[in-house]
Amino acid sequence: MDLRGKKAFVAGIGDDQGFGWAIAKALAEAGAEVLIGTWAPILKIFTMSWESGKFDESRKMKNGKLFEYKKLYAMDAMFDTMDDVPQEVRENKRYAGLTGYTLSEVAAQVAKDFGKIDILVHSLANAPEVTKPLLETSRKGYLAAMSSSSYSLVSMIAHFGPHMHRGGSVLSLTYIASERAIPGYGGGMSSAKAALESDTRTLAWEAGRKWGLRVNAISAGALRSRAAKAIGMIDDMIAYAKANAPLQKDLEAEEVAFAATFLASATAVTGHVLYVDNGMHAMGMAVDSQAIQTRS
Ligand code: NAD
Repeated sequence: MDLRGKKAFVAGIGDDQGFGWAIAKALAEAGAEVLIGTWAPILKIFTMSWESGKFDESRKMKNGKLFEYKKLYAMDAMFDTMDDVPQEVRENKRYAGLTGYTLSEVAAQVAKDFGKIDILVHSLANAPEVTKPLLETSRKGYLAAMSSSSYSLVSMIAHFGPHMHRGGSVLSLTYIASERAIPGYGGGMSSAKAALESDTRTLAWEAGRKWGLRVNAISAGALRSRAAKAIGMIDDMIAYAKANAPLQKDLEAEEVAFAATFLASATAVTGHVLYVDNGMHAMGMAVDSQAIQTRS
């Protein structure tokens, strides 16, 4: 896939372990210029790690060069304008000295710096109460999950849309807990993913008609990223998939990134949720179930 001449903004990169990193690198390998959005409170640690060479091994691209980004933007997807930012956040020492991190400001700055972009990637999620079952999740925790993990996509498209080329691609990352019960994926994250997938269809319609944009999501299988480790049972999720999915192998972030570059290039694909999960979604039976073992 040839993305030479295209500009991409990838939101949700905090280290070299997650989907955002792999997608940014794959887009760069396909020739795109890549801009990065990193959550404001971890910006310092990310840049220090980058500069110290911690990511150098992961930065190696197939052509032998090191992956580079054009510019890094501090962002917080919970906020649309500075009026939304509570005083305690403004005064938090991890936000000290940072400005322009709300979504409207980031979109305006990207447009000022680079003009129109072609690819927008939303690879971020957060639920402060993710380890709690839905029944024990507070209203505040539930709404925070929806705000940072789902509404953030609506807001990103609203603010970046006017600064994207027609035919441009918007992509978010979702998980099958949106449509099937996954015990332990709590704090309202399952609800947030359901909203994200529904919004993918509505936004495909609205942003398609308004700006000629395409909006898709990848429903990815389990990956041991920093965010996934916070759920507290990622190793169980990976082991379960390996035991029960049609393809009995680990899911690599690069496989999801490959699908992301395909969606960036697929000019007639929009409103779609694409499973990239070793086929796990197709199963209706756990073949490693104790119930089966006991009977046979
Ligand atoms: P990750 O930790 O690499 O990425 C999540 C990023 O979201 C982090 O960089 C974090 O700093 C950022 N973030 C959190 N709150 C933010 C905010 N308010 N503003 C801006 N950034 C914020 O982990 P990942 O697993 O690669 O997650 C990327 C996406 O993939 C998420 O949407 C996640 O739900 C989804 N996903 C993950 C898995 C999995 O098993 N890891 C499976 C399916 C879908």
